[in-house]
Amino acid sequence: MINEVQEILINESEIQEKVKYLAEQINKDYAGKDIVLMIILKGSVVFSADLMRYLNVNVSLDFMQVSSYGSSSVSGELKILKDGQIDVNGKNVIIAEDIIDSGNTLSALVKLLKKRGANVEICTLLSKPARRETQVDVKYEGFEIPDEFVVGYGMDYDERFRNLPYIGILKREVYGG
Ligand code: 5GP
Repeated sequence: MINEVQEILINESEIQEKVKYLAEQINKDYAGKDIVLMIILKGSVVFSADLMRYLNVNVSLDFMQVSSYGSSSVSGELKILKDGQIDVNGKNVIIAEDIIDSGNTLSALVKLLKKRGANVEICTLLSKPARRETQVDVKYEGFEIPDEFVVGYGMDYDERFRNLPYIGILKREVYGG
């Protein structure tokens, strides 16, 4: 474990077991169908890379990078930093997300994709229910975690720690929390 991490919250084998479980649910629900796995950059790339290898339905990949305006954007204004390339009209889109915190970004993204004609579901590895500001319907959820700042398995602090193979709680002194 690296020095900046206070404790390992979820280890590699626990992650893999859960990712496999999530993929099995998707395989069951979408058997014989096509899906677009909408990978939300950058935090979801590691999760998505593992998830897709357990999927046995027809999967297309697309990528979006989004953020919500400001820190208190309950209004749900979505800032698109990178848009997807696939026309999602009439498609089954599964948004692959690393973590749902306030829910503001994701609820705005779901609204947008539905407006574009997609059937949208969310698959998130982590959820922090204590922090929710906007209600979002999550069909596939890995772990509920406490209100701690986590890094690793794709998730960063200031672009660091994405490469850690486990999910760890970042020491507060690192981010001054
Ligand atoms: P929200 O649900 O608040 O709109 O935004 C979720 C996004 O905030 C996530 O995709 C992630 O980028 C970031 N985020 C929220 N909580 C954490 C955390 O504990 N660690 C990291 N690394 N990112 C987080």
